[in-house]
Amino acid sequence: MGLIVQKYGGSSVGTTERIKSVSKRICRTVAAGHQVVVVVSAMGRTTDSLVQLAREVSSNPSKREMDMLLSTGEQISIALVSMALQELGQPAISLTGAQVGIITEAQYGKARILEIKTERIRRHLEEGKVVVVAGFQGVMRGDDLEITTLGRGGSDTSAVAIAVALEADYCEIYTDVPGILTTDPRIVPSARLMEEITADEMLELASLGAKVLHPRAVEIARNFGMPLVVKSSWTDDPGTKVISPPPTDRCVVGLEITRAVDAVQLDNNQAKIALLRVPDRPGIAARLFGEIARHNIDVDLIIQSIHEGNTNDIAFSVAREVSGKAEAVARAIAPSLGSTDADTDIIVDKKIAKIAIVGAGMIGRPGIAAKMFQALADAGVNIQMISTSEVKVSCIVAEEDCERAIAAVCSAFEIDSSHLTQAPQHKGVPVRAVALDQNQAQLAILLVPDVPGMAAAIFGSLAEANISVDMIIQSQRCRILEGVPRRDIAFTVAANEAQEAQRVLSQLQPKLDFKGIVLNPSIAKVSIVGAGMIGTPGVAAKFFQALAAENINISMITTSEIKISCVVDASHGIPALKAVHSAFGLGGDTLLQVPSRE
Ligand code: ADP
Ligand code: ASP
Ligand code: MG
Repeated sequence: MGLIVQKYGGSSVGTTERIKSVSKRICRTVAAGHQVVVVVSAMGRTTDSLVQLAREVSSNPSKREMDMLLSTGEQISIALVSMALQELGQPAISLTGAQVGIITEAQYGKARILEIKTERIRRHLEEGKVVVVAGFQGVMRGDDLEITTLGRGGSDTSAVAIAVALEADYCEIYTDVPGILTTDPRIVPSARLMEEITADEMLELASLGAKVLHPRAVEIARNFGMPLVVKSSWTDDPGTKVISPPPTDRCVVGLEITRAVDAVQLDNNQAKIALLRVPDRPGIAARLFGEIARHNIDVDLIIQSIHEGNTNDIAFSVAREVSGKAEAVARAIAPSLGSTDADTDIIVDKKIAKIAIVGAGMIGRPGIAAKMFQALADAGVNIQMISTSEVKVSCIVAEEDCERAIAAVCSAFEIDSSHLTQAPQHKGVPVRAVALDQNQAQLAILLVPDVPGMAAAIFGSLAEANISVDMIIQSQRCRILEGVPRRDIAFTVAANEAQEAQRVLSQLQPKLDFKGIVLNPSIAKVSIVGAGMIGTPGVAAKFFQALAAENINISMITTSEIKISCVVDASHGIPALKAVHSAFGLGGDTLLQVPSRE
């Protein structure tokens, strides 16, 4: 006999018919001899409707009252699922987050789970009941029972956290698609099901817009080694397994507040090549990296900055031993890229090192990157390039600063500096899946003085306002204004936090003396993910070529070891996703019919 946690998402309990149908499935699991804890979301689009109601009465509702309101959606579904189970003769009881004792941080809107009490659930399980728990909600510590929510899509996180607290055998996430697919089947019906995906790949994918799993659910499953499977509540197909590495011993108290940074990585065998003032039009990145790939040169980080006039800067890093070859390729192709206002400049720097902090616990915690920048600033280290993913922040610094930088970062995150690790070498398919995020906005801060501490000040302030930042890019080009060398810094944030980010930044302006903030709300981010892209030349080139073939301009590029993201105009998001999915041959022959949500 096992203990299984099953989570049913909004569409799986969208109507009373659906509730009756999932209740039969729950009964079958019980009949097979298991104890079952069920976690449910609000019915269908209930949470969206509640958000709409709040908007109708207030332009800026208090976060406390929002949580009070939004947590009601789940309360409806737990009661109905329990009733439906009882109707089938299965004893069941519904419990809210407060009744279970799902304790979260004292923060409304996107609280993290600190602890889950198990006594009451266990008692009811022993009584032979199915326990139906409200997802997405918890309470703060103390007698006031202040209700919190975990952030949109957070029921997945509730389910995995409950599974960990109960030491369940596994956690099943039931949804309206057959599992995790190569991309969103609502946009690309030929998307193919994956039987397995690594937790690292899924973390990237989830945070890049594939909302089939909440990234924090993947983080918990990975940290605690909880077996996780995503499947359809309409069929009996096996779905997709999320494969976690063997768990390290972690304490379940402070469940989501684990150590943010597990390791510091150093790569001091890198060289940077930057092309300044390349024309801003479709096909340029494709041609450059196509040529690099043709010479079989493996590229590590790639960043392309925001537009400056009608030209861009593109910088990339390669292993030092191939930097001569890469430079030659870049110099040979530069004249034919067709510069407009000025000639393309090429800068080569062989004296750089890449320092990265790694850890699944940094997800959704904007303070972690800021802390790294601050540690570097305090050590007087200037950051030349930044690249971020959900589980990693990498900074390129001058090689001569490397030792100081490592010491500062290790001490900031309490990592023993004798435990530096090298980035892992994965084997596998280069590109497993493609994601589209249409809920981001781009902010650019213009002409920021190029001195240590600027990134720390900017991202520190955003972190204080609890705003998560993605795709941070510093321009390669340095401009002197008022006697001070300056660079632009661009990044993306969730669209609904863009205004707030702009407000926080404008307050910093007098102190930091930058020259402007530009907000572009109409962007889309297209990303490819795959652990096997490490050490496989040509992946980036193929991505950029797919966009070029559709005449889609790329305004920002960032990479981490296992993902490449491009920002394009909002109107190009869907065509870009389709083109890239097909360029990597990810589609299958069968077209998926996904149940409509209306
Ligand atoms: P639930 O209500 O069950 O929590 P969600 O809407 O949160 O469901 O997540 C399921 C949806 O995620 C699917 O209907 C699909 O449109 C979308 N999705 C996006 N990317 C992917 C992907 N790579 N694989 C599967 N589904 C995806
Ligand atoms: N009902 C919540 C939401 O829509 C939580 C969830 O569905 O996971 O965000
Ligand atoms: Mg969901």
